[in-house]
Amino acid sequence: MATIRFNALQETLNRKVIKIEENKKRSELFAQHVFNDKAMLQYMTKEAYKGVKDAIEFGYKIDRKIADQIAVSMKSWALSKGATHYTHWFQPLTGATAEKHDAFFETINDGEAMELFDGGKLVQQEPDASSFPNGGIRNTFEARGYTAWDPTSNAFIYETTLCIPTVFVAYTGEALDNKAPLLRALQAIDESATAVCKYFDKNVSKVNATLGWEQEYFLIDKALAASRPDIMMTGRTLLGHSSAKGQQLEDHYFGSIPTRIMNFMRDLEQECMLLGIPVKTRHNEVAPNQFEVAPIFEEANLAVDHNSLLMDLMEKVSQRHNFKVLFHEKPFKGINGSGKHNNWSLSTNTGVNLLSPGKTPMKNLQFLTFFVNTIKAVHDYEELIRASIASASNDHRLGANEAPPAIISVFIGSQLSEVLDELENVTKGKLSPQEKTDLKLNIVGKIPEILLDNTDRNRTSPFAFTGNKFELRAVGSWSNCAGPMTVLNTIIAKQLKDFKKEVDSLIESKELKKDEAVFNVLREYIKASKKIRFEGDGYGEAWEKEAKKRGLSNNKATPEALKAKISKKNIQLFEEMGVMNKIEVEARHEIELEEYAKRIQIESRVLGDISRNHVIPTVIQYQNTLIENVKGLKEIFGKDFNQYASEQIDLIKRISNHIAEINSKIEQMTDERKRANKFSGQKNADAYCNKVKPYLEDIRYHVDKLELLVDDNLWPLTKYRELLFTK
Ligand code: ADP
Ligand code: MG
Repeated sequence: MATIRFNALQETLNRKVIKIEENKKRSELFAQHVFNDKAMLQYMTKEAYKGVKDAIEFGYKIDRKIADQIAVSMKSWALSKGATHYTHWFQPLTGATAEKHDAFFETINDGEAMELFDGGKLVQQEPDASSFPNGGIRNTFEARGYTAWDPTSNAFIYETTLCIPTVFVAYTGEALDNKAPLLRALQAIDESATAVCKYFDKNVSKVNATLGWEQEYFLIDKALAASRPDIMMTGRTLLGHSSAKGQQLEDHYFGSIPTRIMNFMRDLEQECMLLGIPVKTRHNEVAPNQFEVAPIFEEANLAVDHNSLLMDLMEKVSQRHNFKVLFHEKPFKGINGSGKHNNWSLSTNTGVNLLSPGKTPMKNLQFLTFFVNTIKAVHDYEELIRASIASASNDHRLGANEAPPAIISVFIGSQLSEVLDELENVTKGKLSPQEKTDLKLNIVGKIPEILLDNTDRNRTSPFAFTGNKFELRAVGSWSNCAGPMTVLNTIIAKQLKDFKKEVDSLIESKELKKDEAVFNVLREYIKASKKIRFEGDGYGEAWEKEAKKRGLSNNKATPEALKAKISKKNIQLFEEMGVMNKIEVEARHEIELEEYAKRIQIESRVLGDISRNHVIPTVIQYQNTLIENVKGLKEIFGKDFNQYASEQIDLIKRISNHIAEINSKIEQMTDERKRANKFSGQKNADAYCNKVKPYLEDIRYHVDKLELLVDDNLWPLTKYRELLFTK
């Protein structure tokens, strides 16, 4: 076995199991490192506390005097927990999180020092952020962006740093991060949904979007991962033949969790508890070494922050346990990839889940209203949803014949489909008393019973109703939930706004009763959005054909999919809902195209290097031993040698053919890269997608064939069976 593989495996085998001591109840640990309500009440003046609460609830501005008070109490709390530094924690458009730590420590007078922190430092900072992607919004030489405190997400302490969640904006006002547009979208849905709720319950004054994500990931031994340049540089394997055993026995899914992995999970969960991330579920996933962690759902902004924080934590905790965590959507060929289901719903300040049917006909009409409007919004903006989850790595899942296709459709189950079918036949205009009773009792009234046994879940649907929430399953495991959550909440906000306008005008002009008007509008929406509903197998080829006939988009690759973000219709949507202006939308689009091209460029370079530096020299070495062998046989057997050497000669030829293919394909790929680099924007991304990317598979094919031919002792790269089955 090649030394590098041998050493990596040896290191793994020598490892001691790290024991995790857990002597505290989870509930006692929960949110100990979060500056939450409890901590605020303890540390803040009444005035300061009210200031924060008003900012959270009503979006009021916090004045400087109050900010100073808040800062002082935040500092006291943080110091009591052992913090020494503070940072404005934000989510730049790279999709990761960013932080720059400053010490509380300041010198005063002669040789004296103390811990200081004031309102100014809490509320606003100017990181030297000229290297964050900004899509041309901000001239880099100006570097004028600032971070501003987001009081709706609590500050927390990680290790010894007080982290203050912030938005990142340019001085000209444009958002430079993922969070600002999300907050605006959440405000838009609050406004639209609250207005619609008033038809059913006057007491509703706020609606929160809720999000419960399910994070899938792989854990690979750190030393083994480090022996693979492709994993280290790109987050996935660019080559590697499938191992004889993969996931075909399905013996990993929900199976018992190996001790070393369990220790990692418990350690992670403990950290999550301290930070107030309410993780609840953990289990094995379908592929070997693939797992999932999921929390109790939360208000969407908080849930988005918590997912980003979790991903950071997972990187750190996995290191401690000598693992490398892989968030890439498709780290290994031939076995399942990873996703991040986004469970989404709407919840009122009166404690009602708007996507959960209730006990009274009125509650159910409210449920139907939000249910149908959601379907209509997804129907109208399916292409934008696809765009919101597009990335080079997620392309390996979507449109690659596994978990959700690139076609967006909605699954609601056969029983709710029947309800919608019946509602389609509601008479236009005024309803007779008989019809009203019938509707309320027999159609709408039936809903709660139905949902209790709504068991026909369809796992192949990208957007499925699952009893009391919708589940957007097409989100990639590596991506930040902010993108898809911004889009989903914006389109539904817009839809609810239009719905309200239509219902109001029916009530005014046709003198319909409120219920009649609601039924009338819903009926039209059900008809208009029929083509987005699909109950069948989302992975099948038949659906691709059917979806095309229905006129649904099927954008398999990111550069194509992203176009929807800058369509006239969608820019108008974002502007109308106050979520992003044209400049902000276009800047993001530019950044995403560039990121796409760069990712493919890196993969292409890494594959070229590994093939040339690792694979070909090894293969030639092996081929030489074959040649020596053939020469020896010739010496022994003379002219009869062919009889004994034919297999070897065949191998020598096959190896030469593969080497030739690899070499010429690398040349061609490099030429395509050079051509692609002459372009920018859409053309650059298109070239990487259509001209460069296909070589990745072509080259891999030959390398993977060679892996099967060459002596295992010589093969330099850690193999799939080692990466995936070493516990
Ligand atoms: P699975 O998809 O694995 O079968 P579930 O469908 O039970 O699991 O989904 C579990 C996820 O859904 C959890 O993360 C949970 O927090 C989330 N969830 C449940 N109710 C809601 C809701 N009202 N809003 C948002 N997320 C929710
Ligand atoms: Mg799920």
